[in-house]
Order: sequence, then structure tokens, then C-alpha cells
Amino acid sequence: MKDSDIEDAVARVLSGYTGAAAPAPGASSPTAPSHKPSIEGCVWEATKPADPMDDIIGGILTRALSERNCSCCKTGDCKGATGCLSISDAEAVELGDGIFETMDAAINAAAEAQKKYLFCSMADRKRFVDGIRSIFTDPAILERISRLTVEQTGMGNVEHKIIKNRLAAENSPGIEDLVTEAQSGDDGLTLVELSPYGVIGAITPTTNPTETIICNGIGMLAAGNAAVFSPHPRARGVSLLAIKLINRKLAALGAPANLVVTVQAPSIENTNAMMAHPKVRMLVATGGPAIVRTVMSTGKKAIGAGAGNPPVVVDETADIPKAALDIVNGASFDHNMPCIAEKEAIVVTQVADFLISEMCRNGAYLVKDPAVIAKLEARVLTEKGGPKTDCVGKSAVWLLDQVGVKVGPEVRLVLMEATKDHPFVQEELMMPILPLVRVPDVDEAIDLAVDLEHGNRHTAIMHSTNVRKLTKMAKLIQTTIFVKNGPSYAGIGVGGEGYTTFTIAGPTGEGLTSARSFARRRKCVMVEALNVR
Ligand code: NAD
Repeated sequence: MKDSDIEDAVARVLSGYTGAAAPAPGASSPTAPSHKPSIEGCVWEATKPADPMDDIIGGILTRALSERNCSCCKTGDCKGATGCLSISDAEAVELGDGIFETMDAAINAAAEAQKKYLFCSMADRKRFVDGIRSIFTDPAILERISRLTVEQTGMGNVEHKIIKNRLAAENSPGIEDLVTEAQSGDDGLTLVELSPYGVIGAITPTTNPTETIICNGIGMLAAGNAAVFSPHPRARGVSLLAIKLINRKLAALGAPANLVVTVQAPSIENTNAMMAHPKVRMLVATGGPAIVRTVMSTGKKAIGAGAGNPPVVVDETADIPKAALDIVNGASFDHNMPCIAEKEAIVVTQVADFLISEMCRNGAYLVKDPAVIAKLEARVLTEKGGPKTDCVGKSAVWLLDQVGVKVGPEVRLVLMEATKDHPFVQEELMMPILPLVRVPDVDEAIDLAVDLEHGNRHTAIMHSTNVRKLTKMAKLIQTTIFVKNGPSYAGIGVGGEGYTTFTIAGPTGEGLTSARSFARRRKCVMVEALNVR
């Protein structure tokens, strides 16, 4: 290519810049003047440049401009490629980049952003969602948010949080989840489209803080909404960091500012203010029974993703060594904090001893001494019989140490036998202690599992090769997730088919939430035309 051709291409591309911040490399090229102008909120339209060379030159210029304009590292070390994502822990909780002083200000900004977002194309939505995915699939960012979560909440396991965060980023459905229906006939053509609610208020748990922000953020934005997050105060720093990273990235991609927002000091008062705000059209609560009840009683459209107490049933037809390994893996994943994790085992007596010995070969530690069990109960349970917060999400090694038992890091799960009315069986502990209840046969195991699931309609697991009994349990227990012959986490896409969600809405019936759960079905009717059959 001649110098004059390059100069021409540079001039053409530069004339497409309208004075707004340059998009990150990898984003669509800036709009050339001959193309459709940017509409309302969308600074960068995903239109094709007239000359392919514009694309190449545009990429180089974009990179240069965004490096030069880098507001955080100044040096360009962040490469601009991820939209300046080098944010210190202290900077993460400062105002700006989606962090507001009051809930009212945050919601007003989100409402403003959503109005502009209505005029962005589906291609733009996809770019923004892909941008969010790219932040949280970066290994350094994944490691950082996972480590910070464990440090700040005092719960869980960094390696497992990396898996969960990556899963949320890669496997939460995007715009492809929004499928339009069409009906045509003598009276014309009708479309049923999935439209945004507007501003959604999302309450996130301390057990999966960033996973839920990533997963909800992707789904809510894919469906055309703006999201106002109300994180658990215990996970404040890392939640605000995740929201700020999303804002920086979206800004670099030319999205309307403040599509994903929160407040500087999350609190129950701020959550209440969010729920009551007239501009919040939908509420999504991922947490325990109290917050799910609260959102359901607001009178607004609400999705409630509440507590579980997932039973795992093992019958005499199961592959016992595999079942033992799967149960230890599932029940120790992120120190048993996932709401889907095996919380109690119900085992047919005929295979119970074999299962226990296989579990112990795979990282379980069987506590048999009644005195140690009594100490464990006293240490981890409150007076009301629920889990003590300082024990939730701790490791098996730590829990055993608390009651004077020293074990090596190979121990991942505390196992004990119990009767069905023991609090460890009845309560959702969210720590790697698995009580095992013996039952005479599989039918009794299924009945007990239904009882212990407490009607949450959340998750259940069964190890069996008897398809009739697998079907019977699936029908009777009515859980959103039913895993057969695998660890519980296969139900959220780790080693099991299907998409990922960290908001499993049993109480309100959406089940496995995704972009379409955050959209309204709207009918568009063209009368007496466009039927071409
Ligand atoms: P939590 O109920 O204590 O807190 C969840 C969120 O709700 C937090 O942001 C908290 O600040 C807020 N909140 C709680 N009570 C409130 C009230 N009265 N008013 C206003 N805000 C309130 O739960 P957690 O300890 O963070 O998370 C663990 C629970 O969440 C477990 O029961 C677990 O099973 C459940 N969970 C469910 C899912 C699911 O998809 N179904 C996913 C993750 C966690």
C-alpha cells in the first residue's frame, strides 16, 4: 500500500471519531461519516466500514488513542485492550464508574442509561455482554476477585471461586436466549418479543458475590435492562470492584454510562430504598428466605432465588466408588457454600458401609466419637439450631481443628452418621460437614429426601442405575435441578451439559434464570398485512 493510500485511510477513519472516547481494540470500528450516524446512547455503531483497510487502520488508531487516554495507569500498561481495568482495591470503593453515594442517584442514573440503551442495536448489546465476559475470563482478574472474595467474606476456596466466576462469565446465556415468536394468518402477522423491564434491582448474596453480579449482569443487559445491584455488605469491596470493572469496560465499548450501578455503602437500608424506588420495575433476590420473602411482598414483579437443602440419595444399584467420589467433590466444592451443594446423604443400609469407606478414601473424615460430634454441634450451631456465621464456608481442616482434631489438607469433608431429625440434616449449614442417614430401602430414601428438601424446589441429587427410581424421585421432589449420577455442580454446568446460572429461582418458579427471565413478553400486531403464505 502506498503512503498516500495509508494517509487517506487514516483521514477517513479519524473523521469517524466524533470527539467521544475511543473504543477498545476488538470493539467495532468507529463509524465512518458515510455510515448511519450513532443514535442516542450508542456511541459506536456496529456498522461495517466502507473500506476494509479502515478496519485495520481503525484498530491501530483505536489502540493508540485509548492508550493515550488511559486515565488509570497513564503508562498504557493496561494496554487499553480491556478498557483500563487496573483499579486498586482503594479505588474500587471510590465514587464514579457506576458507584453512587445514594440509592436514589444510582437508580436515576440507571434509568437514564436504560432509556438510551433502548436505542442500541442487538449487535451492540452482544458487544457489551461479550465485553463483560472478557473482563472475567482474564486469568489475573479471575484470580484477584476470587482471592478478594475469600479475604473479605472469610468464606470459601479461591480455586473453586475461580471456577465459579469463569463459569458465570463464559456460560451465562446472552442475547441468543431471547427468541422471538411469530404467528401469521388471514388477519396479518403478530410477533411476541422479549422486551426489557427497564431498571432491575438485584440483591446479591455473600456466598457467591461476584458470580451473581457477573451472571445477572450478563442476563439483564442482554435483555436490554439496566441493573442496580445491592450487594451483601460483607462482600462490599469485591462487589464494587466487579461493578467498576464492568463500567470501565462498557465505557470503552461506547455503551450508555451507568447501565450497571450500585451504592458506595451497601446496607439493608439501601436495599430497602432500592426495593421501594418507583423507577425499579423488577426485583431479583438471590439469598436466604428473609430477602426472598421481602421482595415477594413488595407488590413488584419479583424473582426470588432462595435457600436450598439438597439431599443426595444413594441406592443399592449405584456405582458406589463413583458415587462416593462425586459426593465428596460436590459437598466440598467452595467449602459447601453453593446453594446446590449436597447437604445431607440418605443411603440404603445395604451399601452404606461401602459408601462411607470409599468416601474416606477420597478425602472425607469420618467422625464417630459422640464427644467430638457434641463439640462440633456446639461450635457450629447457634442456640436456634442454625449455622454460626463464622463457621459458614470454612474448610474441613479448620472445622475439625476447632474441636481438637488435627488432619492434613487431603481432608476435604467431615462425615458423620446422624438421624433424620438432627439439625445438621435439617438445616442448610453451608460448611463441609455432611451428615449421612441410613434407610432400609430406596423408596424410604426418596420419601425422606422429599421431606428434607423442605419444599424449596431447589436441588437434589441421586446415585442409582434404576431408571424407575430415578424417575420416581425426580417426579416427587420437584426440584429445579435434579442431578443423576454426578456431583451437584454438574447442575450448574461443571461437567454437566447446559448453561450456568447463579440465581436459581425455585420460590417464584423461573427456575434456572437467564436473559429471558429478565424480559417481558410483548405482542406486536400488524393487521391484515405481512402474511405472505
Ligand atoms: P442473605 O439472605 O443473608 O443475604 C442475601 C442478600 O440479601 C444480601 O445482599 C443481604 O444484604 C440482603 N438481605 C438479607 N436480608 C435482608 C433484609 N431483611 N432486608 C434487606 N436486605 C436483606 O444470604 P447470604 O448469606 O448472603 O447467602 C446465603 C443464602 O442464599 C443461602 O440460604 C443460600 O442457599 C442462598 N442462595 C441461593 C441461591 C439461589 O440461586 N437460589 C444462590 C446463592 C445463595
